[in-house]
Amino acid sequence: MEIDDVRDILPLFLNHSHAAVAIKDLEGRYLFANGEYQRYVGVGLERVFGQRDELFLDAERARIAHEAEQAVLKSGRGRSADECIVRDGATLSFLVARFPILDEHHQAIAVGIIAMEITQQQRDSAAAERALKEAQLVNSQLRGAIFALEELASTDRLTNAWNRRRYEETIEGEIHRSARYGHPLSMLLIDVDHFKRINDLHGHQEGDRVLVQVSTLIRAILRKSDSLTRWGGEEFIVLMPNTGLGRARATAQRICEAVAAHALEPIGHLTVSIGVAEYLPSETHTEWLARADRAMYRAKDAGRNRIDVDPARSMTQNHVEHLEGNFVQLVWKEAFRCGHPVIDRQHEQLFARANELLDAVMSGRPKDEVLGVVEQLISEVARHFSDEEWILDAMAYSGLNDHRVEHAGLISRCHALVNEFEAGVLPVGEVFQFLAHELVTRHILGSDRDYFPLTQMHPEVSGS
Ligand code: GH3
Ligand code: MG
Ligand code: MG
Repeated sequence: MEIDDVRDILPLFLNHSHAAVAIKDLEGRYLFANGEYQRYVGVGLERVFGQRDELFLDAERARIAHEAEQAVLKSGRGRSADECIVRDGATLSFLVARFPILDEHHQAIAVGIIAMEITQQQRDSAAAERALKEAQLVNSQLRGAIFALEELASTDRLTNAWNRRRYEETIEGEIHRSARYGHPLSMLLIDVDHFKRINDLHGHQEGDRVLVQVSTLIRAILRKSDSLTRWGGEEFIVLMPNTGLGRARATAQRICEAVAAHALEPIGHLTVSIGVAEYLPSETHTEWLARADRAMYRAKDAGRNRIDVDPARSMTQNHVEHLEGNFVQLVWKEAFRCGHPVIDRQHEQLFARANELLDAVMSGRPKDEVLGVVEQLISEVARHFSDEEWILDAMAYSGLNDHRVEHAGLISRCHALVNEFEAGVLPVGEVFQFLAHELVTRHILGSDRDYFPLTQMHPEVSGS
């Protein structure tokens, strides 16, 4: 290890009462050595003074010492090293510092040597300290290098967009967040139209330049939270967190228009086709991508230079609102699945039962018949609540207590409403409104969503 200033290491040696000290001239002859130095060299001082190491040390030690001193003189800086010496069958360890001794003109006139015997433990801790210092230095260099490598490994070399690897690392987290918090999440699948022609007409290299320009145009329209991935040769994906279908559609439209409007070097104008799809809770990434892909191909088929939107929406909000004003059939959607087979079957069945009730109400069935359907629905709800609690308990769902309380509240309101309906003080529409909206739709599309991430992760845990 190089030493910038001997004063840095002197305290280390001075605290050591058995430091061996010697001074050699520039030819390597000893000018001075203290009593402790005898132990380091293994011979009496009378053989040391005025002599060089070769005379009394073994050739290997003498060579190491000579090289170290030459390095010190050449660099003008001190250095320290561990030396192990086997003597009479025992191994002795020394920490040895060598440093130049300078005159007033900063010319080296001699070499100083301080050697201190250290135990294995001291050696280890000194070595550890040095290793740590070195590691810290190497580490900070590495960090920079790793960062650069990561960037390199996760972006597309041509367009600087994310590559698939980066996208795949990100997508699961985005999907999970969307399912967990109900944040909308959308994607645009962008494919350059007739790109093969550009290559054919202008060559692959010009084609590459065009791809760079297209990616720049797209990026200019995106928000900070959106990401651009080069998905394939002339295919890009824009991932838009916190974005529902409406804004995704508008962004797609802007990209489409911006690309078409811009004259590109050297080919002039070119167009893209874009498929738009919003992520539906409980679908896989592949299913979602397939919907975007189909939309993109519809845009191609319809003549290119356009967007096509897969109409499926994740929530729910519109769906519920729409229901409140009108008595319409509840439409079960794949997106409502939580991933647990029993819960999903029951949820779907409750939708069907609510529709049955609607039929009965709308078709003016006699009150007794309607009441029969109401009671059937309520008993199925009660059964479902208890099964769901059992399943969530088995999955150690942390929100279970709150969920139980909500279930109990809904059931008791159910019974109160039915009593009023029976007593003729509540119109059937109100009963339906509550059962279909509060109980079935809102609860399943609202509170139940909180456990979706759990059931989606463990669909194999099956209930009774
Ligand atoms: P369409 O409108 O139906 O999408 O027509 P297209 O020609 O774009 O479709 P197709 O998928 O058949 O062709 C894509 C072409 O993109 C084929 C390939 O030569 C070219 N391509 C793929 N990757 C690159 C690339 O990295 N650089 C260049 N210059 N061309 C590429
Ligand atoms: Mg293509
Ligand atoms: Mg194409």
